[in-house]
Amino acid sequence: MGSYLSLSAITKSFNGVQVINDLSIQAERGELLTLLGPSGCGKSTLLRCIAGLAEMDQGSIELDGVELTSLPAKKRDVGMVFQSYALFPNMTVYDNIAFGLKMRGDRREQIKGRVEEMLELVDLSDKRKDYPHRLSGGQQQRVALARSLAVEPKLMLLDEPLSALDAKIRRNLRMELRRIQQRLGMTMIFVTHDQEEALMISDRVCIMHEGRIIQTGRPEDIYAEPNSSFVARFIGHYN
Ligand code: ADP
Ligand code: MG
Repeated sequence: MGSYLSLSAITKSFNGVQVINDLSIQAERGELLTLLGPSGCGKSTLLRCIAGLAEMDQGSIELDGVELTSLPAKKRDVGMVFQSYALFPNMTVYDNIAFGLKMRGDRREQIKGRVEEMLELVDLSDKRKDYPHRLSGGQQQRVALARSLAVEPKLMLLDEPLSALDAKIRRNLRMELRRIQQRLGMTMIFVTHDQEEALMISDRVCIMHEGRIIQTGRPEDIYAEPNSSFVARFIGHYN
């Protein structure tokens, strides 16, 4: 048996420049794996390849025993949350969360139950009738998370979901995100360029540099034993 998620030898270039370079990662079910690396190292491109929003040049992606490479984005069972919340501005919080469930043809009663469950999960039950512009950035991001989780994807991709928020809200929301992830047993790939965020939230961290993974491990192990001067500097050991 392979891993729940297996990325194998992924390569991707733009205009002849390799942005993802023979990259492989495995993740287990229920794991929160963080991709940590500086801006421009290829994190978003990799997530877009996994979600089916960009085509890879080479490699394969297997999720829960299914090869995703030739499947369109819609059929991959992969959810994604971006830095900017991209909620539907003309829909209430409730309708934003219900959207994906309606699209796939769930019954009305079923949708209601599921949306209520999600509202409770992200602690926004009292905001169900509000429109997104009435919410704070942190609240909007919780709606975006609830909307993606509502359809129960097999894998959630989070592309710097907290980066646009104030420091204090960001710290609160990252613990909330971790709590939700553990409660649901959801497999997540979380992308950030923030070292502290990565070390605090993850089961394992993959350090990414110029399209490659240069170290993978538990936060405490990477912190204690960076395997290169790049990792040491990036994690914050300045020796
Ligand atoms: P990160 O998310 O780690 O900041 P990206 O995946 O966004 O990095 O970008 C990695 C590299 O690929 C960058 O040099 C970026 O300019 C380039 N790139 C990303 N998307 C495109 C695109 N659609 N066309 C051309 N170059 C791109
Ligand atoms: Mg990015």
